[in-house]
Amino acid sequence: MAGDARTFEALFGSAPAVRARAPGRVNLIGEHTDYNGGYVLPMAIPQETRVELAPRDGREVRAWSANLPGGRIDSYVLGEERRGRGWLDYVQGVTVVLAGDGHALRGFDVAFRSDVPLGSGLSSSAALEVSLLRGLREAYGLRLDDVALALAGQRAEAGFVGAPVGVMDQLASSLADARSALFIDTRTLAHERIPLPPAVELVVISSGVSHAHAGGDYRVRRAECERAADLLGVNQLRDLSPADVPRAMSLPEPLGRRVRHVVLENARVLEAVEALRRGDVPGLGALLDASHASQRDDYEVSVPEIDLLVDLARAERDVVGARLTGGGFGGSIVALARAGSGAGVAARVVEAYARRSGRAGRVLVPRG
Ligand code: ADP
Ligand code: MG
Repeated sequence: MAGDARTFEALFGSAPAVRARAPGRVNLIGEHTDYNGGYVLPMAIPQETRVELAPRDGREVRAWSANLPGGRIDSYVLGEERRGRGWLDYVQGVTVVLAGDGHALRGFDVAFRSDVPLGSGLSSSAALEVSLLRGLREAYGLRLDDVALALAGQRAEAGFVGAPVGVMDQLASSLADARSALFIDTRTLAHERIPLPPAVELVVISSGVSHAHAGGDYRVRRAECERAADLLGVNQLRDLSPADVPRAMSLPEPLGRRVRHVVLENARVLEAVEALRRGDVPGLGALLDASHASQRDDYEVSVPEIDLLVDLARAERDVVGARLTGGGFGGSIVALARAGSGAGVAARVVEAYARRSGRAGRVLVPRG
């Protein structure tokens, strides 16, 4: 685990009562579809956020993270949450949502330690929310199933923190594992685990370009989708099919291209699910490649560093497909490589990336 190694006892003067954890996630395919009511196909990554927690008397919450420089303990009082306190907003958001849903909480001390890189498109934010919610569920006996727990995390982030995220990240952190893809219909929340074919393994590399300041761009994309859905007379872009794309292309620029991405990306998720079931590795790879082109050209959420990483990955003989994963504007790539080749592929890609961009990429999967 990264960063400050101080123990819970050293920080708060007593032992933790509860321990919980939750993983980051990588999305195989289905990007910017979740807030349009569409399909996604994420997996858990081995990196996770761990939480130690102890209820305390009174209504004060004291929170600390090993991942932040400075090592300060931040605090607030339950019922007096105020937005604008940086990372603490994610913690405050969770207690606001739980209280709003009628769950009885007392104060608590909490320590976070994560090896999910922050701001790299691998959802450290959902890992924090889901790990905290799991810890609180256990500490207070909260009646929350794993889906309700994920939705509480999503509302904390979208409603309180103010990041306009869909439901994929928290559902993935709450429900996914690292060996199968979790096919989610974000409208109905129906979900199913589909194993990766044994012939392939995942490669995940972060670009070292943080998407930390991408909130505004993300918001613009969301607004464009809502405007396009309005103009096309549907509730959400999910309600369109590929046959509607020509009509959408008559909308004012860039709305047609935004629609084309979302509608065809939804179709690609369904095709990817079929390819997974058939064990069709080349088919799966081609879908990842097409998804990347669509994110780059139609949805315009890639950056040159990510395009470089994708190109370098695809130039590898053992890579069947590669794409930007996560919201974009930086972040990470996911590639599918022939089983057994992932570590070598990742090392060569990161080396070439450093030479060409001067940036330090980081291999998250396979874990060294
Ligand atoms: P991502 O979810 O892709 O990593 P986000 O911008 O959604 O990126 O979330 C990153 C933010 O979440 C960080 O800037 C920080 O405020 C908060 N965060 C996530 N994990 C931790 C952690 N372990 N400790 C402190 N803050 C965290
Ligand atoms: Mg996030």
